Amino acid sequence: MNWLTNFVRPKLRALVSRKATPDNLWVKCSKCEQMLFMRDWEANQHVCTHCGHHMRVRPLKRLPHLFDEGKYERHPLPRVPTDPLKFRDTKRYDARLKEAQSKNEGTGEALVVASGLMAGRTTVMALLDFDFMGGSMGTAVGEGLVMAADLAVARTAPLIVFSASGGARMQEGILSLMQLTRTTIAVRKVKEAGLPYIVVLTDPTTGGVSASFAMLGDVHLAEPDAIIGFAGPRVIQDTIRQELPPGFQRSEYLLEHGMVDAVVHRHKLRETLIRLVSLLMDPRISESRGLAVAGG
Ligand SMILES: [Zn+2]
Repeated sequence: MNWLTNFVRPKLRALVSRKATPDNLWVKCSKCEQMLFMRDWEANQHVCTHCGHHMRVRPLKRLPHLFDEGKYERHPLPRVPTDPLKFRDTKRYDARLKEAQSKNEGTGEALVVASGLMAGRTTVMALLDFDFMGGSMGTAVGEGLVMAADLAVARTAPLIVFSASGGARMQEGILSLMQLTRTTIAVRKVKEAGLPYIVVLTDPTTGGVSASFAMLGDVHLAEPDAIIGFAGPRVIQDTIRQELPPGFQRSEYLLEHGMVDAVVHRHKLRETLIRLVSLLMDPRISESRGLAVAGG
């Protein structure tokens, strides 16, 4: 009996429970459906190595590719009252929030604020996290953006925002809608201080975020093929009862129609941002070269 329980059973168990491949070794491209080796995909900044499709990247994965030597400082968001309306749909809002926080180690809310050096210049960044409750803007996100703006002004630094959101956080009702005005005022503070405010629109940027700070940049860059708009295409189509043109609400379409200044490949974002900030902040460069931006 001893020999069976101590020796044979563990061996059998190890054989049965061993997985041929770990679950997280491969990723499927959401566009061309090719299988990508996770390590290659991450090294390629979540861009498909077959078709070049830009898949969504979470803030903490994106930040190291933007700052000098991948080094930056994270600024915790100001504390705000959770669930002020005691909102409940199929679940309580505070339970939903806790669940999102437990699944999203590291972010804690739908916004990450960080500062660091970009080509030796102090830069403040605020990045929305679509994986955290759809990147929705509640009081915490609004408060975080105000903090990022204040930080940029205090450090005489440019503010760069990466947007990715489904809109306002409906569980916070009117309080989430108030963040549209608050973030607009925050952006204005940066502009009044004469500092650049640049927005990088990523997939997807919609709703209240696109109706506030995401559309107020001095310069708007967009990642290729990102959905950018206020209401979704189906809602618009049903309202106007007309077929929408191909590529509607995609980055390239918005570039053609003047809503976006440049569509930039993710690999070129850092250098483009560095160049833009230098053009906007160093008057001698902008005088001699003009404010030309290379599109991607
Ligand atoms: Zn692909």
